[in-house]
Amino acid sequence: MALDRSTIWPYRDGEPGEFFYSRYDHPAGVQAERALGDLEGGHALLFSSGAAASTTAALGLVGPGQTIALAEGAYYGTSLLLRELERWGLRFVEFDQTGAVPDDVDLIWLEAPSNPFLTFPDMEAAAAHPARLLVDATASTPVLFRPLEHGADVVLHSATKYLGGHHDALAGMLVFAEQEDYERIKGLRGRTGPVAAPDTAWLVLRGLKTLEVRVRRQSETALELARRLVEHPRVERVRYPGLGDDRAARYMSGGFGGLMSFDVTGDARAVETSTRLITNATSLGGVDSVLETRYRWEGDRVPENLIRLSVGLEDVDALWADLEQALA
Ligand code: PLP
Repeated sequence: MALDRSTIWPYRDGEPGEFFYSRYDHPAGVQAERALGDLEGGHALLFSSGAAASTTAALGLVGPGQTIALAEGAYYGTSLLLRELERWGLRFVEFDQTGAVPDDVDLIWLEAPSNPFLTFPDMEAAAAHPARLLVDATASTPVLFRPLEHGADVVLHSATKYLGGHHDALAGMLVFAEQEDYERIKGLRGRTGPVAAPDTAWLVLRGLKTLEVRVRRQSETALELARRLVEHPRVERVRYPGLGDDRAARYMSGGFGGLMSFDVTGDARAVETSTRLITNATSLGGVDSVLETRYRWEGDRVPENLIRLSVGLEDVDALWADLEQALA
């Protein structure tokens, strides 16, 4: 697809056409939105990051005095963001997303599966609750799980992760079940300005073309590594939905994704700095495997010995050999 970097397009007969100013819409952005919207079965909107999508969702879907029920142990940046927005009168409570949702909340915010604890939400309980339902499905992608088919009103993605898929594009997406929500949040995005640039949208669009093959392969490799890690004497615990999480098995189809975490005995920092093939870096969802201890970012929210691993497209035995030597 040719990339159009214009910020303006000429009016036709004195009237703005589909594209007139790129803060509202641009061709690569619209194409990426259509591609993801088709995959999710809804109306998609592109943002400059996952955090920008989260901010716009929070500002647009609830207001001062209203309460968000956020999945406990979900991406820690989301709780930091909602804490920031408390200054503007927004409230939030955290709850165990595998159980009942608190009463008297206005928006439920789940993560499927959560990062870095890999819990899978009780979608039935959340969908039966009168509050609106947003699901951050960054870690599962529409290849494995489509929340709108299970009662969600909005799906959120950090497109920086699997949708882009190559650790070279920072972007976010919201996908709406209802046209009305889409129109309103699109208006808010146009006024506040957090749309991704055309170059980024083009990279996301290119990433979407290989999303299915990447996610299926990453899921296969991750399941095999999770099974081997469970058996390793230095590994106390592996968190991965493919290891007997019945709820995840009910909702996810064709695999459990490329994200996992595991707790080690001894010095976790020494493990993360000893890998050679797997890069010691943050983020997830790319073709190259990365791992890191999360304690450095999240503090006491996570065990000090928890290592998060995002599995890429490398050979499974090469990845295992790397983990084994790092754990030796
Ligand atoms: N949601 C989840 C589950 C994430 O893991 C992240 C980032 O790590 C975000 C949202 C925020 O996305 P971004 O880093 O693209 O702003």
